[in-house]
Amino acid sequence: MNWWQKYKLRKLLKRVDSGPIVFLTGAGISAESGIKTFRDSDGLWQNEKIEEVCRPEGFKKDPLKVLNFYNDRRKDVLEAIPNLAHYLISELQAQEKEVYIITQNIDNLHEIAGGKNIFHIHGDLFKDKCNNCKKVVYNENNIELPNKCSDCGAENQMRPDVVFFKETPYLMQEAEALARNAKIFIVIGTSGQVYPAAGLIKLAARCDALVIEINPNPSGNKYIDFVIKEKASKGLLALVELLLKS
Ligand code: NAD
Ligand code: ZN
Repeated sequence: MNWWQKYKLRKLLKRVDSGPIVFLTGAGISAESGIKTFRDSDGLWQNEKIEEVCRPEGFKKDPLKVLNFYNDRRKDVLEAIPNLAHYLISELQAQEKEVYIITQNIDNLHEIAGGKNIFHIHGDLFKDKCNNCKKVVYNENNIELPNKCSDCGAENQMRPDVVFFKETPYLMQEAEALARNAKIFIVIGTSGQVYPAAGLIKLAARCDALVIEINPNPSGNKYIDFVIKEKASKGLLALVELLLKS
């Protein structure tokens, strides 16, 4: 951000009443931790047919392929560490009363960075779910075939507890309430193409939040009031500095 943009942003922030600051984070916030996004040019979609690994039908047709795909993702995340952007959000939470994180990410880097009030609307890579009885268990290890649910005994139905396309996201009522009450809504590293998550941006804007996006390739979403065209860590460093001063 140049000085003029900082000046404009400072003016916008000054006009905002005090109240909840809500983050909506996507794959891009973990990119600087070395975790691939879906839609960037080196993203996961380049290598996988997404309908085969991110849809319920894909799991039905070839569970081994889906399990292998997510086992690789677990490995990536276990080897990763949070980056400055994750830590800056936690730092803001330490200094300000009401700061919430709605994340589309299935990694646990916000948690490792000490984040609080985290709403994983697309699930958690380190939980397994039985497709039959829906029992969820925490597990950092690979899910292998054959497997058996410890609760209902169903065979080969364990899968990561992540929300596949067409499935209903988690915690949407809570996320919508946060978007509605936000005074500042900060969107980081999301292409805004996955609904209903992307609808939260419109909801926050309609409810008069100041909506700020941080993304080196901005989404073009018309409900965004101010764009910081930077990577998550650099953009957030500038923004958090202004937030703590305002
Ligand atoms: P996406 O892949 O559709 O978009 C990634 C966005 O991040 C793009 O807009 C890109 O410009 C931006 N970006 C790339 N590098 C960045 C950086 N350094 N700083 C800031 N922004 C950067 O991701 P999405 O919108 O989150 O949606 C895809 C779905 O994929 C989500 O539902 C999520 O569950 C899943 N996913 C999660 C992870 C993860 O948990 N880390 C990784 C890949 C995909
Ligand atoms: Zn079961």
